[in-house]
Amino acid sequence: MKVFVCREKRPLETRVALDPPAVLRWIKLGASVTVESGAGLAAGHPDEAYLKVGATIAADPHKALAEADCVLRVRPPDSAEIFQQKPGSMAVGFMDPFFNRGLIESMASAGVTGVCMELIPRTTLAQKMDALSSQANLAGYVAVLMAANRLDSILPMMMTPAGTISPAKVFIIGVGVAGLQAIATARRLGARVEAFDTRPVVEEQVRSLGAKFVKIDIGETGQTEQGYARELTPEQVAMQQAGMAKVCAASDIVITTAKVFGRQAPRLLTAEMLSGMRPGAVVVDLAAESGGNVEGTRLDEEVVLENGVRLLGWGAPECQVPRHASQMYAANLTALIEHFWNAETGAPDLERDDEILKGCLLVHRGQVQERFKP
Ligand code: NAD
Repeated sequence: MKVFVCREKRPLETRVALDPPAVLRWIKLGASVTVESGAGLAAGHPDEAYLKVGATIAADPHKALAEADCVLRVRPPDSAEIFQQKPGSMAVGFMDPFFNRGLIESMASAGVTGVCMELIPRTTLAQKMDALSSQANLAGYVAVLMAANRLDSILPMMMTPAGTISPAKVFIIGVGVAGLQAIATARRLGARVEAFDTRPVVEEQVRSLGAKFVKIDIGETGQTEQGYARELTPEQVAMQQAGMAKVCAASDIVITTAKVFGRQAPRLLTAEMLSGMRPGAVVVDLAAESGGNVEGTRLDEEVVLENGVRLLGWGAPECQVPRHASQMYAANLTALIEHFWNAETGAPDLERDDEILKGCLLVHRGQVQERFKP
């Protein structure tokens, strides 16, 4: 199987789909791997590092794309790139499937098999292939460091001859994978942390990390079978906002990570709530790429409001730690291919009756997965 690792085209994207150690594992399986020149540079992996483990560097990326049986990316390709792939080949990566109808249609008409990393089931067996989790984990960590970096004060308590400094107050809204890591990181830096999520099961996890769970009664919420939050009604959002306003006003840092799978992120912090925060406070909106939790967030920008509150809207903060983000993403892709690998054919077996496959095969043999059909 000929594998091609593309150089990411999105501005500010620093990750690469396979790092050299992962390439070695693909080669050991029996794949031949070609890497687009410069693909790993921003993640700390020059072309020579790929050559050393046995990969080829593509002299002509268009030719490599056209010849590949399997094309690996982090970000979704555009339709033109899909039509450059040969029919029957695979495209693997994040695809933004709920908001990228054009890409799905292109894969179906080009006969390209789309393996979508957002759709890997959140099950124990698939944990090592779960790229949403591996990247969210890093995003939660980086969000706290970014906020600490931009804050005008320190996070830990300090008792010095010059006086005592109280710990910073950090409020985390949305306690999935990113939120949990943000809590743990802020705690490690000495902050006092509070958190809220609409899924009641999270309360125990928040407490076990040494943070306080903010209780807001918004009525029936619950979660889906996959553990995702359900969308709130407008009335529930209003109740949540009323409950959170005071906590935000008392916080030095607010980090929002609230997402509803398959939908735009809920708008949770209004301009009014932001106007009640202190000058110099920092808000990090980790949902900036899917619409934003915070009014006024601008994707990939820092905005300073009139009252001195800073809004950080970096879309994928894990791009600031590209070496580890790539290492984890590459490990996810490798675990996926190893799971489906057929040593006899020297290719993955995509015809198997398998729950993980059913989840992540977005398009196969021209057929679009049922729930993504128009
Ligand atoms: P996500 O990125 O979809 O959402 C982030 C968080 O936002 C979630 O905790 C969600 O409940 C919360 N949220 C949504 N609306 C909100 C609102 N209005 N206010 C406050 N919070 C709100 O979540 P995720 O990090 O991808 O995790 C989703 C679920 O999957 C979790 O239950 C997680 O434990 C589970 N999970 C399971 C596995 C596994 O079993 N292998 C792996 C990873 C995640």
